[in-house]
Amino acid sequence: MSKQNKLRIIPLGGLGEVGKNMTAYESGSDILIVDTGIMFPENDMLGIDYIIPDFDYLLDKVDRVVGIVITHGHEDHIGAIQHVLNVIPAPVYATPLTIGLIEAKLARNNALGRASLNTVQAGQCVQLGAFQVEFFHICHSIPDAVGLGITTPAGLIIHMSDFKFDHTPVDGWPTDYAKLAELSNRGVDLLLSDSTNSERPGWTPSEMVIGPALDIVFDSAPGRIIVASFASLISRMQQVSDASVRHNRKMAFVGTSMVDNAKIARKLGYLKVPDDTLVPIEQALTMDPKKVVLMCTGSQGEPSSIIGRLSAGTNRHFDLRTGDTVVLSSHPIPGNEESVSRAINRMLRRGADVIYDAIAPIHVSGHASQEEQKLLFNLVKPKNFIPIHGELRQLKRHAYLAKQVGIPEENILVVENGEVVELVNGKLKKGERIPGGYVFVDGQSIGDIDHGVMREREKLARSGIFLIDLNVDKYSGRLLGEPEILTRGFLSPDDAEELLPEVRKRIMDIVNGGGLSAEKDIAGAVKSFLYNETKRRPMVFVTLSKT
Ligand SMILES: [Zn+2]
Ligand SMILES: [Zn+2]
Repeated sequence: MSKQNKLRIIPLGGLGEVGKNMTAYESGSDILIVDTGIMFPENDMLGIDYIIPDFDYLLDKVDRVVGIVITHGHEDHIGAIQHVLNVIPAPVYATPLTIGLIEAKLARNNALGRASLNTVQAGQCVQLGAFQVEFFHICHSIPDAVGLGITTPAGLIIHMSDFKFDHTPVDGWPTDYAKLAELSNRGVDLLLSDSTNSERPGWTPSEMVIGPALDIVFDSAPGRIIVASFASLISRMQQVSDASVRHNRKMAFVGTSMVDNAKIARKLGYLKVPDDTLVPIEQALTMDPKKVVLMCTGSQGEPSSIIGRLSAGTNRHFDLRTGDTVVLSSHPIPGNEESVSRAINRMLRRGADVIYDAIAPIHVSGHASQEEQKLLFNLVKPKNFIPIHGELRQLKRHAYLAKQVGIPEENILVVENGEVVELVNGKLKKGERIPGGYVFVDGQSIGDIDHGVMREREKLARSGIFLIDLNVDKYSGRLLGEPEILTRGFLSPDDAEELLPEVRKRIMDIVNGGGLSAEKDIAGAVKSFLYNETKRRPMVFVTLSKT
């Protein structure tokens, strides 16, 4: 066996979690990267904008990276591109819409000049070092998504990123079944495929069901319609535009990312909105409410999004008003259910009607359900299988489905981020472990925030803070006045009035009694006193100056 006949698969993100998809393939000295996504922070990750994959493994191998291939334009696949290109300036390959969205993202971050962006059409093939990459069209919730056939010295791989088998997609361009069959005939050594919906039986409904559901909403809305979705859900923009035309309403995109993406998709021909249907937001706000549709971000209830601000009454441009109909056209990402639910309640309180996917089919998933996943196995007939894109339970479920359709158990490997897999002589085996964790991005700072900082922020948010400022005589060690105390997020004013005199007295007894004189000891004593009194543990800080 020559050394070249080994393929290493390095899962850097998206395995064991939802989001920040990134995989590296290593054949001999050549490395191919597929996708560079981000993940949105969970509720307890305070102050974090987003999370990128830990790609430390690649840092001493930058010269060996022959290319970065991106499967489609969703944030969990392109979001980290500027961070990756910063350290790995390899050429990027993707279809026209995906390149357009990457271009806009790089331009917003002043990183466009250095990037080598290469447009590939679905159906084309690119040789990148040891990897021959064939791009083939697949259906998803954004146009121009592709799966990849990757021929390597160790065998033929199919990298099936997000997909669904929709026979009536919005853009009329179904998955390239013929290509999948052709790859299958050549003999597929390894399939990697999207596990997002592996717990969902049956078939994912076609995008087509949304049209009639939107018609019902448009027919009955007494005033403005505000549709919230993701800025990259271009298919949904198309459907809202089509409904606007059918119901004789004008449409405005709201928010930078929404406006930018719509512009790119229209320019490239992936979004067809008639010129006389589209109006700027300023104009839309002055029009008859019954003639207007606004499309904006915030379907996940994110506080900084337009829907988040509308629900809180803090949007600059315009407010919600009675008679508005808000359509949340997406499914909450796991972990976001709470904030979505809060936003819905707040908007109802402001007099708007809110339509969400639990009460009307105004959203369908972009991911294959169990029957589609099984069809893919039967179509591709892979010798080996690695489930990707999903939490561990979804990966496990996907592995179970593979076994059901007859892929031998020993040919299926469930791994999480950082667990290297090797394909040698047609067989999978586990390799070493490499870092595969989170890198937090917080404003301009990347990766400087560690889990310790996150824990501190969580503690501050959960329990509040208690600051004590003491001034003591440097000779006698006795207090020169009452301790000054400042608390935030810990006590109500009434409770404070009751408790603070006691805390002050306790501190004076301790310090003047000569018992404790170090700041951290005083803090410790105060902490246990506060815990005894309130059963809560705020962060306690003591500053002590000697005069
Ligand atoms: Zn996607
Ligand atoms: Zn995805």
